[in-house]
Amino acid sequence: MPSWKAPEQGQFYYWPDPQPGAIGDTAYDFLKLLPGPTHIFIPGQDNSRSRVIATLLHGNEPSGLHGIFHLLKYGVRPVVDIHVVIPSVDAAKQAPGFIYRMLPHHKDLNRCFREPYEESDQGRLAREIVDIIEAADPECVIDVHNTSGSSPSFGVTTYMDQQHDALVSLFTHRMIVTDIKLGALMELSTDERPIVTIECGGAQDEESHLLAADGLRRFMELDCVLSLQHTDMSLEFFHNPMRLELKDGSDIAYGDHCLLQDGVTLLPDIENHNFGYVEPDVRLGFVSGELASNLKINNPLGEVAITDYFRLDDGVLYPSRRLKLFMVTGNPEIARKDCLLYLVSAETD
Ligand SMILES: [Zn+2]
Repeated sequence: MPSWKAPEQGQFYYWPDPQPGAIGDTAYDFLKLLPGPTHIFIPGQDNSRSRVIATLLHGNEPSGLHGIFHLLKYGVRPVVDIHVVIPSVDAAKQAPGFIYRMLPHHKDLNRCFREPYEESDQGRLAREIVDIIEAADPECVIDVHNTSGSSPSFGVTTYMDQQHDALVSLFTHRMIVTDIKLGALMELSTDERPIVTIECGGAQDEESHLLAADGLRRFMELDCVLSLQHTDMSLEFFHNPMRLELKDGSDIAYGDHCLLQDGVTLLPDIENHNFGYVEPDVRLGFVSGELASNLKINNPLGEVAITDYFRLDDGVLYPSRRLKLFMVTGNPEIARKDCLLYLVSAETD
């Protein structure tokens, strides 16, 4: 029987030092053993220092939990104390498991990390995560996610400095630096406490789970994770990607011909363009009606002209210049609520 403690206040259960025999035989068993939002503590060799791992902020992004499960099974002995924060357990547990980003009618937790914290379950959960981080006073924080579509791995940060670069390069060599403020945990990063997001790649890909386990193991076992001495890999940077979003009143579908009378249809294989260049002659989908009444582009400063980046030719959607795309989703729900994809102009790479 797992020896977690029910919350005295708030929503987080506390599970200190889970033993390899107490966590089930698979990551999914482990998930089922978690009673709700859970704070796991793994004691380190040097308990004067600590680091925090957040994962499963989105219930359909299991790689971080796979990684933690794997390391607990292997009996990891971290160099410093490790706190693991696993909030969206209830969403992740909904059958058949790891399907729901959040429970129906809940806000996206990783859009709730901003003052004033909302008076909702998600707002309070975000506030509690910040409280756990502040109480642990860690050297750094990583927040482990998956992309909704298949994609290579990458890191996301709001900072350009060696500490943030070092954290990301524990996992991957691609790094997105953005000023867009959405209310994500990593936006709380400071010089004293760097926080980065790691996107391990597609949620369904076994490779993403392996990448998470490898990176988390380095995060727990290396004495220093904030300088680049642990790697000779050089990072590939993408600065301030813009977001392609649906306009209010428009809708989205995925198919190889135009599916909506009024809205946007993206080709089913659009995810294959993740981190690739798309040339102006590459078909991306179809738009019925005006381009600018269906789609908009936001950069950190606000909306920019859609026609600078995309064009319609007889209802077919093309880039209007060479672009690099990432975080392309094939999930209409995420496209509606968040964005269709991120892009940068390839000339400015
Ligand atoms: Zn996520």
